[in-house]
Amino acid sequence: MTGDSTRCVHSSLDPEVTTGSVHTPIFQTSTYVQNDFADHLGYEYARGDNPTRNALQRALAEMESPHQEAYGFCFASGMAAITTISQMLEQGDHVIACDDLYGGTVRLFDQIASRFGIETSYSPLKSGDLGNIVRDNSKILWLESPTNPLLTVHDIKSLAAEAKEHGLIVVVDSTFATPILQRPFELGADIIVHSTTKYIGGHSDVIGGCLITQSKELAEKISFLQNAVGAVPAPMDCFLILRGLRTLALRMNRHCESAMTLAERLQDNDKVTRLFYPGLKSHPTHEIAQRQMNAFGGIISLEVKGGEAGARKFAAQLKLFATAESLGGIESLINHPWTMTHAAIPEKQRYDAGMTPGLIRLSVGIEDMEDLWNDLVNALETL
Ligand SMILES: *Cc1c(COP(=O)(O)O)cnc(C)c1O
Repeated sequence: MTGDSTRCVHSSLDPEVTTGSVHTPIFQTSTYVQNDFADHLGYEYARGDNPTRNALQRALAEMESPHQEAYGFCFASGMAAITTISQMLEQGDHVIACDDLYGGTVRLFDQIASRFGIETSYSPLKSGDLGNIVRDNSKILWLESPTNPLLTVHDIKSLAAEAKEHGLIVVVDSTFATPILQRPFELGADIIVHSTTKYIGGHSDVIGGCLITQSKELAEKISFLQNAVGAVPAPMDCFLILRGLRTLALRMNRHCESAMTLAERLQDNDKVTRLFYPGLKSHPTHEIAQRQMNAFGGIISLEVKGGEAGARKFAAQLKLFATAESLGGIESLINHPWTMTHAAIPEKQRYDAGMTPGLIRLSVGIEDMEDLWNDLVNALETL
């Protein structure tokens, strides 16, 4: 199985053994009968193991690591997955993270992990920087690529190589890229994070997260924490996410194609004052994106004439882009990071990362691209 679409459909597509059901059913159970004390079919209690969850975990591991064994672990949300990584650390450990980061991740590190003696430093992380930031107690390099909301593409390969020299575990939050657009393991990642709420689920109807690793040692730690901490997803949610995964390649093609065309057209519109899309030559990390990604994703960030007030007016005029948090669903959305997804980050830190009160983020859905374009142009003309 080499093609992305084939892998999306066939990863872990094993008929259910008792009925032949083509798709893994929803095993809605909390426990499993044992023949004798501790004599069972491999399933004891559903926090530890559930067949629906296992099918999703295997499929996600196959998606990120088609040629080498890998281990997938699913969680009740992207944040639950990220929290579980923070629980691999000890008091006194240090995390190095890129500075343009999902707001919830910053909140977790700064307001929760910090209470347990884990310190986090944020940096723009240009290649060659790491030597100046790393400390004796640094344990993790945390990368998000492309980042949320400015779509910075980090050079994962060179940063991971530097991190390895310092013995750091390299974590890549690849939510915006999905397994279709980049392969972090081939670039040196040790753990890949996804909020499966976004493109993998793909229909804005479920919350979930996952961690994937090729390292047996890390997998044992994560497996222990998944059961011991218990931030696990429900079987129904796993089913929905697995169903979403089956069409991921198809959807990503459309998201990326439409976003590329819309970004190119927005570039020539005089109501657009700043525009961020990694597929445009004008994007500061376009060259890295070209090297590292198969396509440039479905998210566009921009500022329009009139700053925050302009952004508000623009959003209100749109008919097909609903104002909502989240991204990666079949329907187009518009989000205002300053007051919505990134409001939890201290203001100075937001400015330092390049965010402004006028910034808006578009999640380009799979509607007809020309309809989306007309919607955007009509709204821009009112400014
Ligand atoms: C949404 C998101 C998360 C958090 O995931 P939830 O499923 O909302 O808990 C983490 N990282 C990125 C990049 C995200 O977009």
